[in-house]
Amino acid sequence: MKTETKRQDREFIAGTYGRFDLELVSGKGSLVYDENGKEYIDMQTGIAVNTLGLCDDEWVKAVTEQLTRVQHTSNLYYSSPCATLASLLSERTGCKKTFFSNSGAEANECAIKTARKWALDNKGEGYYNIITLKNSFHGRTITTLAATGQDVFHTTFNPFTEGFLYGEANNIDSIKALCKENKCCAVMMELVQGEGGVMALDKSFVDGVAALCNEYNMLLVIDEVQTGNGRSGSLYAFQHYGIAPDIVTTAKGLGGGLPIGATMFFDKTENTLTAGTHGSTFGGNPIACAGAINILKRIDDKLLSGVKERSEYIIKELSGAEGIKSVSGLGLMLGIETEKDASSVIKYCMENGVLPIKAKNKVRLLPALNIPMELLEKAVKVIKDAAKGE
Ligand SMILES: *Cc1c(COP(=O)(O)O)cnc(C)c1O
Repeated sequence: MKTETKRQDREFIAGTYGRFDLELVSGKGSLVYDENGKEYIDMQTGIAVNTLGLCDDEWVKAVTEQLTRVQHTSNLYYSSPCATLASLLSERTGCKKTFFSNSGAEANECAIKTARKWALDNKGEGYYNIITLKNSFHGRTITTLAATGQDVFHTTFNPFTEGFLYGEANNIDSIKALCKENKCCAVMMELVQGEGGVMALDKSFVDGVAALCNEYNMLLVIDEVQTGNGRSGSLYAFQHYGIAPDIVTTAKGLGGGLPIGATMFFDKTENTLTAGTHGSTFGGNPIACAGAINILKRIDDKLLSGVKERSEYIIKELSGAEGIKSVSGLGLMLGIETEKDASSVIKYCMENGVLPIKAKNKVRLLPALNIPMELLEKAVKVIKDAAKGE
């Protein structure tokens, strides 16, 4: 690790991140390299962002072609990459319309604004409450922190945005009670809680929430910022669960490495946002959209069955292995609970050329959806060794 980079980082970058002592300077597919040329198998993809790995040829071509044509025009004008991406999302999900932004937090912010406007238009005054789940994560803005159902995020920045109520994951009675006692417009949740510890919700709970949304005339908002874009083994995790949400948000993996957020509106919400009610300078940026079109087109049935195969392989190998207590999650979004402290397992992996990350007390695996089997086998072997006793 270059001492000059470290010095500049510490001196000039806001101290919000605890970084690993590592800089990744290049990569190809699922292999990444530090400045000394040491090779690592990438099991984190920049937190579920580099969907098809690093510097994938087709993606680079799509992005550079757009880059040499026009990099940005603003939302004052039409843009074909943006329009094409929206129509692709509609075709693949059944959504009617999409709003584009630049991050997960913004995609969720847009969903929250839409849910409140929808309630005002359709239910009248006062139905501003949104039910989210304990242990969720929805972003870092004041409002999306308020939506995040973890007390640790609700200090320091008071006052937070009002109108969020927290139910318990997999406890339908706790959601029912909140619906009964409050005037609500929506339930917003992740189907696999990512930052909260890679916990997939029970199908019966998700069905129960969908039924409550019908009963109480509330919107079902699914945060697929992390689960989306093939990560779950389906294009979107709501398709795996077989539910019909009213709003779906996504970001992370959509652009394959470029910043983009999307808020997708289904039948009930397609006309809620009207001229002047929302906007974004960078949202729908042509380069990010060109990358996303390439990624989305390539997440086909073949790739998705590959995700499932890889997922099953990891689960089979790691479940019950020495030092491993449990494996949770869905598709290629997996959490490994180890007897040893997760940080020490991650440290061993890094020393031995494998890069996983953490989620709460778990080792989290988020490899590229197309990681070659032989690299996955190598990585799993290192993780097994790392989890073993001394
Ligand atoms: C990462 C994440 C976000 C926040 O996304 P940013 O792009 O960091 O703003 C929101 N929701 C979920 C489920 C996430 O995993």
